[in-house]
Amino acid sequence: MLAELDDVGVDRRRGGYSRHVFEPAELALREWFREQAARRGLDVETDRNGNLWAWWPGPGDNAVVTGSHLDSVPGGGAFDGPLGVVSAFAAVDRLRARGVVVARPVAVVAFAEEEGGRFGVPCLGSRLLTGSLDPDRARALRDADGVSLAEAVAADGLAPELLGRDDVALARIGTFVELHVEQGRGLIDRGAPVALGSTVIPHGRWRFSVQGQGNHAGATALRDRADPMVPAAAVVAAARRIAVTYPDARATVGRLVPRPGGTNVIAAAVDLWLDARVPDGSGTRDMVAEIAECARDSAAVEGCSVWLHEESYSDGVEFDPGLRRHMAGAVGDVPVLATGAGHDAAILAAHVPAGMLYVRNPTGISHAPEEFAEPADVNHGAEALAAVLERLTT
Ligand SMILES: [Zn+2]
Repeated sequence: MLAELDDVGVDRRRGGYSRHVFEPAELALREWFREQAARRGLDVETDRNGNLWAWWPGPGDNAVVTGSHLDSVPGGGAFDGPLGVVSAFAAVDRLRARGVVVARPVAVVAFAEEEGGRFGVPCLGSRLLTGSLDPDRARALRDADGVSLAEAVAADGLAPELLGRDDVALARIGTFVELHVEQGRGLIDRGAPVALGSTVIPHGRWRFSVQGQGNHAGATALRDRADPMVPAAAVVAAARRIAVTYPDARATVGRLVPRPGGTNVIAAAVDLWLDARVPDGSGTRDMVAEIAECARDSAAVEGCSVWLHEESYSDGVEFDPGLRRHMAGAVGDVPVLATGAGHDAAILAAHVPAGMLYVRNPTGISHAPEEFAEPADVNHGAEALAAVLERLTT
């Protein structure tokens, strides 16, 4: 089933896939979702926040919900997100083929903008649904071309004024289980195809905007410059230098945009984004505060100014231990993994019992074209998910 998506959103410039919410590739994936549901005779709904739902046998409360997301990071892999949606449909197929009669409804879900690849806030669809993101703030989010989320949802036929906490949709979710390709080496090291998730570490995104003075690269003496790239570089270097002082921390600058961006032009401004994750309590914000201090020091020396904005933050999450015991009962003695990656399941975990299954990724690489899962492991994952759904619904 995943092979049907091979041609959708191929990014010829970056490699891999770029599938951003409400853009043509992602809309094609939404259409594919509707077709998959129709092929199975499942009712499909798009909720107020742009999340897609397919119901078996029909919508109802206390459902066992499973799925993931269809969008990608820029230049991402084929498995992050779609594997969970494809496996959800495959698991439903298995239960139906076995003649399982469910005592609770099952829903396959695809959450909108999980990666934050277009509007900058990860898990946008699940955050809006659960009310953990202010809808006014969400409506005002803008993509790189200046299009607001309000405009993007309106273009897709949704009502921007209805974005926000959706108590009806939330009440229907009795349990949420997300299957996801593993985004690290945990299962390679353990020699197993499938694992259960235990925790997600705290993580967030911060935008540094450094203001300087645009000028001529040849005619401007070094002493006369206010070059915002210098404090920006200080942020990159400080992120690594400071992160190694926090146990098992991660700090990444994966995106840096100089304006105007010319080889012989001293930039007038530089925007850069820091992704920071520290397992321990308030460590993530503490680490960012240290990095920000380095940015301000460097900016002061260079005659620039720095503005720091927290675009998103998620506390650490422990998945529901009771649900995990049920899942272990269904899938047997498999490894249990903590992860540094964020997921919709971690957003939902604050509201309903939520759990995760990971499928081995033999490259250990994710958010890049090399992300992979062997067909046998994909099959193993779908079977594990089917076993979990059967246990939870009968
Ligand atoms: Zn994902």
